[in-house]
Amino acid sequence: MPELPEVETIVRDLAPRLTGRTLQAPRLFHADVLYRVSRRRLLATLARNRVEEVSRRAKHAVLRLASGDRLIIQPGMTGNLLVYDRRLTPAERRYVVLLAGLGKGATFVYRDVRRLGTLLLLDEPAWRSYTARIGPEPLAPDFDGAAFAARLRRTRQAVKKALMDQHLIAGVGNIYANEALFRAGVDPSRRADRLEPDALARLHREVRAVLTEAIASKGTTFRDYRTGTGRRGGFQFRLHVYGRGGEPCTRCGTILQTTHTIDARATTFCWRCQT
Ligand SMILES: [Zn+2]
Repeated sequence: MPELPEVETIVRDLAPRLTGRTLQAPRLFHADVLYRVSRRRLLATLARNRVEEVSRRAKHAVLRLASGDRLIIQPGMTGNLLVYDRRLTPAERRYVVLLAGLGKGATFVYRDVRRLGTLLLLDEPAWRSYTARIGPEPLAPDFDGAAFAARLRRTRQAVKKALMDQHLIAGVGNIYANEALFRAGVDPSRRADRLEPDALARLHREVRAVLTEAIASKGTTFRDYRTGTGRRGGFQFRLHVYGRGGEPCTRCGTILQTTHTIDARATTFCWRCQT
């Protein structure tokens, strides 16, 4: 599933091409991605509505519309968001979920092969309660070491689970939780509320560093993730642990272990470097 760096990359690519444009003749090809909005209300709201701002919250793209509504797109594992400046080819039309004209021959497309993504349409009050339920953005300037420590001390969960808990911290998923824990030298199974101050400080620094570096590399592409211009990200070549179980640790050469016991997801770590 795309995490903060991937969605940030998509949003940065889309923003200059969508902001200020008016959505024309929107079409929805599959309604099973809709969450708490009907096809009729979605299309009626989007039609002739102008995109005022394209931003990101946690792992979601947010299109703020002139009507005050927000279209939230959670792309999921196989979702792509793109703007085409020409007609789509028949191959490009396959798996399109939502499409809207932008004028001058341009088209905004949400494509999702397995339709694991979600579309929401929220008015202003619904948006405020939605965003209030999500934790702070880890790259926000005011998300300092004290703010990070205060969030992690709230939970007895394993620190890896805590990092991925969207109510505690926004946008971190399995890839970047694994990487940040390795870089900080912290055992992923340790209880979040029992980390020492220096472990918390290292983890805070590495969460922000790995997300920043991944954005600079335009995200991690394993399978279907593409940037907002249809390209692959580059951070898969810079991962230390994620997807590398059974390979040697880049720091000490010990064979990396993979376990599913922490959160049923693959956790890969070095038992020697991470304590
Ligand atoms: Zn190691």
